[in-house]
Parts: sequence; C-alpha cells; structure tokens
Amino acid sequence: MLDQGPRIHPHTGCHLIFTRDERRFKEESFDSRMHELSIAQNVLDIVHQYVPAEDRHRIATVGMNVGELSGVVVDSLEFCFTAITSDTPMREARLKVVEIPLQARCRSCAAAFRVEHSQFSCPSCGSTDLEITAGRELQVTDIELRDGEEGS
Ligand SMILES: [Zn+2]
Repeated sequence: MLDQGPRIHPHTGCHLIFTRDERRFKEESFDSRMHELSIAQNVLDIVHQYVPAEDRHRIATVGMNVGELSGVVVDSLEFCFTAITSDTPMREARLKVVEIPLQARCRSCAAAFRVEHSQFSCPSCGSTDLEITAGRELQVTDIELRDGEEGS
C-alpha cells in the first residue's frame, strides 16, 4: 500500500506528487481497437487533473497498475501513450506499467491462489465459488516529476 500525499521518491529524488488513485476507468464500452487509445487518453486526463500545465514538462514517469483481467495490451497502451504525448510538453514522460496477475480466494476453504489458464476452480478443494482478489486493476498509481530549475 502506497502512502497518500506528497513525498520524495526514495530512488530518484523526484517529487512524487500523487501516489494513489482509486478511480477506475470505464473499461467495457470501447471498441476493441480503440481500447488502449481511450485508456491512454484517460490516463492523460488524470495527469492533467493532478499536474498543473506549467509542471507537465517535468513529468518523468506515470505509474499504472494494469490487471490481467483488464484486457489491456500493455505494449499497445505504451505505444498509444507515447503517440498522444509526443507533441506535448509531456513528450519525455514514460508510462511505467505494473502488471497485476489474476488472483482469487476460495469462499469454501479460504485458499488464496493465482488463477492461471482460466482455471476458475480452487486448487485445494475444487470449489468454483471464488472471489477475485486481484487482477481487475486499471489505475494511475503515481506521477513522478523531475526536479525543476529552481534557484540560481
Ligand atoms: Zn477451496
């Protein structure tokens, strides 16, 4: 679980201005060819919401969690993000995607496990009464800014 609010990124010294967004994208309604482009546009909208125009050229990375069940093709999403930011102050920003595997918990025996090859049954007891616990994610998690040219 990430912290809320501004903090300094421990590795790069970048200011991590926003660490978690519970907002979910509207996933279902897109034509499949437009899916990743629409999501990239949504990501950009969220970035615009949190980073003022004068700071957008300093954006280094935009972090996202993309669940296995979201149906998003990560390469395609990265391509679309690069395409729609290439003529903007955000042209150097990179999308940093964390792919979240599909995981479930059995409601009968409480076993937790990774769902692979669409095997929607409990490996311990065989029950199909499962709760999806991870893998639906589609969210912006953090935005990193490079240090500005302050002082001197
Ligand atoms: Zn079970």
